[in-house]
Amino acid sequence: MERLQKEDYIHGGTQKDFYDEGDREFCNCPLCGKDDYLILDSDRGLSVVKCKSCELIYTNPRAKDAQENYFGDATTFYNEARLIFQGKKTHHRDKNYEYELKKIKKIKKNGRLLDVGTNMGFFLRKAKELGFETEGVEPSASLAKIARDNWGLNIHTAFLEQAKLSQDHYDVITLIDVLEHVTNPKELLKTSYSLLKKDGIIAIKVPNGDYNHFKMKLAKKTGKDKNMDIWDCCEHVVYYTPKTFRKMIEDCGYKMNTCFIPPPIHSPIWANLVGHYHQYPSPFILDWKRITLRNLLYYLGKIEFALTGKTKFGLDLMFIIEKK
Ligand SMILES: [Zn+2]
Repeated sequence: MERLQKEDYIHGGTQKDFYDEGDREFCNCPLCGKDDYLILDSDRGLSVVKCKSCELIYTNPRAKDAQENYFGDATTFYNEARLIFQGKKTHHRDKNYEYELKKIKKIKKNGRLLDVGTNMGFFLRKAKELGFETEGVEPSASLAKIARDNWGLNIHTAFLEQAKLSQDHYDVITLIDVLEHVTNPKELLKTSYSLLKKDGIIAIKVPNGDYNHFKMKLAKKTGKDKNMDIWDCCEHVVYYTPKTFRKMIEDCGYKMNTCFIPPPIHSPIWANLVGHYHQYPSPFILDWKRITLRNLLYYLGKIEFALTGKTKFGLDLMFIIEKK
């Protein structure tokens, strides 16, 4: 099979340029459990498929131990964000986090907030600043230590299911840019259910699967699909749409409170500029075309979502859910 040429730079994760038989695994549909699908796209030896029964889009075969992508080297991770820890730079997602927390605060002003998949704690430090009593769960020991040492956060080094947390305890559980990495989302949502207070809420942000699908079709038409990481399928294992997300949460005993399109993430382009990934924003002028395009899609997506309840333009989706 053709080996894709990837921009080569140092990063903290364990993503590969190609996944051969020993590096990948087949799975049943994470939503309905069936094994009958259509292949939408293939990249790096992995495939993105759509379940014929429930329409969930997921990676199959996916990277083995996909959830351990970020179990990488602590020094590399730290250096990606050193200037942020030193208080000299902001994080490129800070504005996103502030917006997301504002939406959460409209429903829960304060209380115990548990962040699942805390990474280096950039989101959780904002939640703490805004007055929540915070705790995090992060399975990567190197990332959890960085979050503890630099922000003084209370982080459990574990997957949520193994963390042995108190039941009926949390007012808010957050999964920000996390659920798309989770291979057994139903198990995670059911565990969260038991940890949440009766009137607690869960805030979940994921990339929009309908946008990825739309982008793929457009890229195939224009012959540009081989140069784009359309699905991020070495990291992402499920691609939610408003429809499949709703089915997933209802199967786990939740109901929808709010769904909306959050402002887009403007990923920095340091890797192209200096050969290393850095977490702080890159200069607008060097990436203005893509930033402008993402902002345009955001506003188009908001209009489309308001009119039709679905969107192919919104890059991400955010949901606030509660117990039935
Ligand atoms: Zn299915």
